[in-house]
Amino acid sequence: MKRLKIVLLFFLVAFAFSQEVKARYADHSNFSRFVIESDTPLEYKVFYTGEFSVSLKIDGDINVSPISRIDSKLLSSLIVQKQEGKTVLTLKFRKSCTWKVFELTNPFRIILDIRERPRGNILKNFVRTIVIDPGHGGEEFGAVGKNGTTEKKLTLIFAKELKGIIERNLGVRVILTRDDDSFVSLDERTSIANNAKADLFVSIHFNYSEDPTVKGPETYFLSYKATDSDARLLAYKENLGKIKEAPSSDIELILWDMAQSQYLYQSSRLAEMVQMELASEMGVTNRGVKQAPFAVLMGATMPAILVEVDFISNPDEEKLLLTSDYRHRLEMAIFRGIQKYIRSLR
Ligand SMILES: [Zn+2]
Repeated sequence: MKRLKIVLLFFLVAFAFSQEVKARYADHSNFSRFVIESDTPLEYKVFYTGEFSVSLKIDGDINVSPISRIDSKLLSSLIVQKQEGKTVLTLKFRKSCTWKVFELTNPFRIILDIRERPRGNILKNFVRTIVIDPGHGGEEFGAVGKNGTTEKKLTLIFAKELKGIIERNLGVRVILTRDDDSFVSLDERTSIANNAKADLFVSIHFNYSEDPTVKGPETYFLSYKATDSDARLLAYKENLGKIKEAPSSDIELILWDMAQSQYLYQSSRLAEMVQMELASEMGVTNRGVKQAPFAVLMGATMPAILVEVDFISNPDEEKLLLTSDYRHRLEMAIFRGIQKYIRSLR
């Protein structure tokens, strides 16, 4: 009897923890809509997985009512996987597509609108102009190290040196979004890149952690949902406190109207190459590239990344970063990443 009770309890608990959601899709004249509907709000993140798919990672063990067959202009299949207490839905496309995600309430729905990627927007296979963006400046100090080094000062020194390295070695034009200690708004920074018809945009920052032992690079490209809570917090700080996350209301964020959406794939590749070079130069484990809603990347009409070169909050790193030798090693690593990316275009 006791055993039966335990078994019953087990089933009840299992039932309580596995949540039923409905999935459906519909084709419209110029886009396809995929909808996840649930009685209760879901915690989830959206991952850019290339031009031909998108992944939705939902917290918890979710039972998705299966779609027997997908007969759609743009969608080809839906794969459901369970991963460490999360449910991952991967939606595959028939063509190269862009997407936007938003939520609706009553009932709670996650909506993915998928649209064919416009032609003629494919990346140019050459790079003539690179914009380097030294983060912060003026009244905006950014992070401050234990010994008082400000992020704004370090990003400027670093960006100027990186500009020199790239110009000497690649023979391309490099423009800085600021070359002194002045305040430049996030919008202005991307405008500078767009007006210069830049082919790459690289924003330089230095990271901060409460843990003084943390070191190493983190390279980001854009998304509405941050990869993890640390990435979300970082984007919040770098956006000067204005959070730019996917809305939970009915407001539609038009991701594909956002300039950067056309370049996410290229941005992710550039981010990977830069991250790999930096991590190996610093001898730290490559934690991979991350995604977060950085305002400075949103309006860029070219592949754009944000590099948190190292942690200014680590006193040892702070000291090292003040030496030109150490900076040179890190600058060369970023340069090699950019160079690899450019070579991969040919
Ligand atoms: Zn910063």
